[in-house]
Amino acid sequence: MRSKLIDSISESASMKMGQIARERKHISDLINLGIGDTHFPTPVKIVDKTYNYMNEGKTHYDNGQGIITLREAISRYLAKRFNASYSPNEIIVTPGSKQGLFYCLFLLIEPGVKVGLFEPTWLAYVPMIKISGGKPVFCSLDHNMFTEKSLKELEKKNVNIIVINNPTNPSGKVWTSKELNLLVSFCLKKNIRIISDEVYNEIVYDKQFISLGSFESIKKTLMLIGSFSKTFSMTGWRLGYVCGKDHYIQDRLLKLQQIVATCPTTFTQYALADTLEEGLTTTRDMVTMYKKNRDLLYNAFKKTPLKPLFPDGTFYLWVDVGEDGDIFAEKILEDLHIIVVPGRDYGIHTQNYIRLSYALDTKIIREACRRFENAFKK
Ligand code: PMP
Repeated sequence: MRSKLIDSISESASMKMGQIARERKHISDLINLGIGDTHFPTPVKIVDKTYNYMNEGKTHYDNGQGIITLREAISRYLAKRFNASYSPNEIIVTPGSKQGLFYCLFLLIEPGVKVGLFEPTWLAYVPMIKISGGKPVFCSLDHNMFTEKSLKELEKKNVNIIVINNPTNPSGKVWTSKELNLLVSFCLKKNIRIISDEVYNEIVYDKQFISLGSFESIKKTLMLIGSFSKTFSMTGWRLGYVCGKDHYIQDRLLKLQQIVATCPTTFTQYALADTLEEGLTTTRDMVTMYKKNRDLLYNAFKKTPLKPLFPDGTFYLWVDVGEDGDIFAEKILEDLHIIVVPGRDYGIHTQNYIRLSYALDTKIIREACRRFENAFKK
């Protein structure tokens, strides 16, 4: 039975912390830095438009690929913002990017296929790969950089597919053009397909984000994953997309979506099609706030013996705590009333890490900093 396969996948550290947060709701000064969501509301314009479309009756099944006006808006957006040109026909709107990712893995993985992941990486890929019959293989980076040394290691692993997450959850890494070029030439040479999860493409601070969608050489086999969850603070709306120029695969992906979901939610798509471009002003305000929070939290950790990695993007801080992350997380929940995610599921050498989210009100971040600094004075 397939349910046995699901049973074999253990509860993730982030799910466990979510459960703990619900159980400890009664603790009045509890700070939850464990969730991969943001405290910002969805922009009012998007909400208002949605109401209008619901009242207009856009409440039925619609195009399985996503409505054409939204695909056109995404096509313009990707070309303008990231120099990634995809025609509306090459875009499939999905109910959240997680579902799009799963479609890609499910379609590309043959039993036993090795799928390469760079450590640390988002914890949801491993169970998705396993459910699809593949074998997740972790590749180390070289001091968090993809260098000739990491390339040599990757070469030895004989992977058939690579999932890259740029910017990276949990480390906040933003891949440079040199790193991406190195990876792309290797994958071209070895015939390796890349799935590029770029859902944090707008949440970048000092560095420039480069989309793999702008690399013409790899376009034929690349599958590009995007989402509006973080961009417009609309995680519960479930709107993502998959772009690809391999029409054979895209056709099958659409067929799969039609079989399992029929189409993405209709009224939310209409609302976003009208607001995608202007909505980006709100995103810029959010990013300004995240940057301030990042600086506060990073600087607070620098004053302690714990070792934070400087994040160039996303809204996470990845910290080497020098001891078992699960034990550390339990300790600070008891002593500081702060929830963080232990690092164990983000790789195979990540047990001594924790991940913190700073997509919260700055006041809360300041209070968390105060507690960490007091508790871990150098
Ligand atoms: N990719 C990464 C790296 C993520 O962190 C998340 C959400 N935490 C997703 C994909 C999924 O986003 P959604 O399904 O809401 O589009």
